[in-house]
Amino acid sequence: MESKPAPGRGENGKSKEFGDIFTDKRLKRTRARLIRVLRDSGNKDLAKTADAIERCGTWPAALKVSPDGCGGFYRNQCRERLCPVCATLKGARHRAALVGVIDERMVLGFRFTLLTLTFPHTSNDKLKDLLRILFKALALFRKTAFFKKHIRGWARGVEITRKDNGFHPHAHFIVEAGFLNIDALHAAWRKCVVKAGGRAPTREGVDVKRLQEKRVKDGKGLNEAIGYPFKVSSLAKWPDSCIVELAEATKRRHMYQACRKWSRRMKEREEELEALLLGDSGSEIILFRDFLEDLRQGDTEAQGMALSVLQLLASADGLEDAVQLLFDAMPEGLRRLWSAPSDVTLCHA
Ligand SMILES: [Zn+2]
Repeated sequence: MESKPAPGRGENGKSKEFGDIFTDKRLKRTRARLIRVLRDSGNKDLAKTADAIERCGTWPAALKVSPDGCGGFYRNQCRERLCPVCATLKGARHRAALVGVIDERMVLGFRFTLLTLTFPHTSNDKLKDLLRILFKALALFRKTAFFKKHIRGWARGVEITRKDNGFHPHAHFIVEAGFLNIDALHAAWRKCVVKAGGRAPTREGVDVKRLQEKRVKDGKGLNEAIGYPFKVSSLAKWPDSCIVELAEATKRRHMYQACRKWSRRMKEREEELEALLLGDSGSEIILFRDFLEDLRQGDTEAQGMALSVLQLLASADGLEDAVQLLFDAMPEGLRRLWSAPSDVTLCHA
């Protein structure tokens, strides 16, 4: 069987869902803009975030090696929420793990429902204040009699969109539950929002949709719930000041959460999948840093693989520093064997 990277893992930056995500033109443009906006914000924390996003994907963190040689590499990831690449990969990873968990339980006959919970706001409201209300209301909601009685498992994502009436933060839940009475749900949610200091949501502030099996399988039903805290494509259209406000307001907030039972199973599934993929291909993962060190120490195994690793990294985008370091770590005899691609220039140290 051909080995495939775990969904969202981004081996070589590639995944079935996104192609080579680290070199995707649209994401690159958004990324460049975000870096500029965060740097110009005058906020030191955000400037650091910008640096991290800029370094994201510019280094081969690890190599995938088998007795046949190097079969791929993993780029470093900044894991910043605002990084278009990391946010996309993380969303995909969560989705894949959650689809698995829900699938397992659907087979057993459990029913799932999508809940959307919102509350009124105006364009004068600060996002920070709206989020404080939302997160407090969500914490209260989980303690309500309604929640305890009807909901046997859950995952929720907070999404932030923006329209003429300002920021619109809201929560999407996937819940394992039987029939849910929308009036009872509205009453419970309304109470929580008011207690958290928000304006009372109308009946339209809550939405309930049965999650169809087909929608779980194609992942689309879950996109809404735990896809992304904000869509990269819409972020690109926001004014600079709104991006800064979003970055400041969402720092250190957990935009995504699941009940303990599901979280544990999702983690297990991710690990199982990883082990399966590595087991299948007879591969292991080694850190690029360690590989360089072995090469410098004259390790024959590392030397035997050096040319193929160099070839692999040189043919990928944006890894110039790593290519140069690797080249420098190779013994002279090996260096002479390598002919660089026409667009790669190396200084002979
Ligand atoms: Zn990143």
